[in-house]
Amino acid sequence: MMKTAGIHHISAIVGHPQENIDFYTGVLGLRMIKKTVNFDDPGAYHLYFGDETGTPGTIMTFFPWNQARSGRIGTGQVGVTSFVVPKSALPFWEQRLHDKNVAFKKVKRFGELSLQFEDKHGLQLELVARDQGEKSKWTFENISENEAIKGFGGATLYSADPAQTAHLMQHLLGMEKVGEKEGFLRFKASGEIGNVIDIKTDVAVRGLMGAGTVHHIAWRAENDRNQLDWKHHVETNGYEVTPVKDRNYFNAIYFREHGHILFEIATDSPGFLIDEPKDKLGEELKLPEWHEPHRQQIEKGLTPVHVPKELK
Ligand code: ZN
Repeated sequence: MMKTAGIHHISAIVGHPQENIDFYTGVLGLRMIKKTVNFDDPGAYHLYFGDETGTPGTIMTFFPWNQARSGRIGTGQVGVTSFVVPKSALPFWEQRLHDKNVAFKKVKRFGELSLQFEDKHGLQLELVARDQGEKSKWTFENISENEAIKGFGGATLYSADPAQTAHLMQHLLGMEKVGEKEGFLRFKASGEIGNVIDIKTDVAVRGLMGAGTVHHIAWRAENDRNQLDWKHHVETNGYEVTPVKDRNYFNAIYFREHGHILFEIATDSPGFLIDEPKDKLGEELKLPEWHEPHRQQIEKGLTPVHVPKELK
């Protein structure tokens, strides 16, 4: 039986890239680990955020468009993206969100408290506190490693067909069903982070792609060979899977599950250090070699952005 360790990355559509950077680095304290373009549409950015080196399970990526039309969160999408912080860090985050004028509510699910809020463009996020998962070495402002986001806690899937998606989580991705309560099913993958996946069973409204919605969720494959095993495994179970696509920092395959959510399986390797040293991650616009000949033209079309400095 094949088992994914959990989430590799989550990719979402948002509005202005500077607002996107300001929120994820300046409020949440993530590191912008890569500034590149959408490989399928090099006129737009693809921005990556994560821990110090962009460890799989910490990587949140965005396709920001200045003029993006708002989407609608609903079925066929990841409804809530969950970040995990150290066990005692929630009071710190209540204060920080308050100080940064981010409205939040406290929610309890499967006995765990979380802080739920939206980013600048309406994407639904939450912070949950757990012991599991290594502390992040990336710190920002007054966020020490005792409070910093460790990576994804998991995600809440808004499936158009919860029963089929639940079946897939267990029998295709190899996760363990660990709970069922108050309109949610909970599954656990084997990894330390990005490993707790909930399915909300009563989402009525259909999702519409646009700013403030998740585009896809990627699950972890160890390496290229393991990814080909996944491709075969998913195809054998009746899904249509894309050919392997070179995303420079990982290889990717995609398929749409029966609840209409776009799933990707991405390789842990080679990672984000292949074209920039660790201390310079995210500083320069990085292009894959096949877009490099058009650098000048691409750069001209992109809105200049900067990563905010720490306010000490
Ligand atoms: Zn992806």
